[in-house]
Amino acid sequence: MKTRVVAIANQKGGVGKTTTTVNLAACLSECRKRVLLLDLDPQANASSGLGLERVDGSSIYEALLGETPAADKIRRTVLDRLDIIPSEMDLCGAEIDIARLDRHLFRLRDALAPIVAADTYDYILIDCPPSLGILTMNALAAAHTLFIPMQCEYYALEGLSLMTGLIQKVRDSGANPGLALEGILMTMFDARTNLSQQVVREVKTHFADAVFDTAIPRSVRLSEAPSFGQPIILYDGQCPGAKAYRQTARE
Ligand code: ATP
Ligand code: MG
Repeated sequence: MKTRVVAIANQKGGVGKTTTTVNLAACLSECRKRVLLLDLDPQANASSGLGLERVDGSSIYEALLGETPAADKIRRTVLDRLDIIPSEMDLCGAEIDIARLDRHLFRLRDALAPIVAADTYDYILIDCPPSLGILTMNALAAAHTLFIPMQCEYYALEGLSLMTGLIQKVRDSGANPGLALEGILMTMFDARTNLSQQVVREVKTHFADAVFDTAIPRSVRLSEAPSFGQPIILYDGQCPGAKAYRQTARE
């Protein structure tokens, strides 16, 4: 199998992008897939969620500037087959610095090209920041597919049409004509509320097969795990959240 680059994005904050990236990456590696997690968010939540310390100059930033090969930034994690390119503060300035460079939308694609060509990984999962700025646009230009985590809440649909409209824009602009929708994952599902069920029904009416059968339940364990620097399969491998991410990985 050739390396598949998946951008995990939603312009809305706090919808479960990072939780999904970390745990899907962990579950895919458990399924014997070779995975590289790229933390493209200056908040660096995915990096700390996997227990990595912040180290100056460890992010993809220099590679985006074309100064260092991205492969030099790859680090191991506690899990077999799961590597990471972490984030740290220097990525904060990247939005501005990169905007001034030539090929500013293709910086990430160019930086990842040798890693993709080497076919060392089955998946490269990119955790995007909660905006549609240069970093997220770079992720969409570099990705084969866009994976959208969506919180089960009232305003979900509005945000979703924005994201699917964005796919069309990225295609039409020529930045990435082949960009496909990997799927929509409903997160923080609460089976006890009508709202959660209504939102899922509504999203399925509009996007049908694009919605994963699995929904990620609202779970305290999932929100606790990052403070221990662990993916859920290490922190509490049998909890409903762990089971849901395993099932999503299989899908
Ligand atoms: P940002 O836009 O800031 O990057 P995000 O989209 O990456 O946020 P997360 O950081 O994954 O979202 O999640 C936001 C918060 O919700 C975190 O505190 C996280 O622990 C919590 N959370 C995520 N998924 C769940 C869940 N299924 N159940 C309970 N809490 C969750
Ligand atoms: Mg995040």
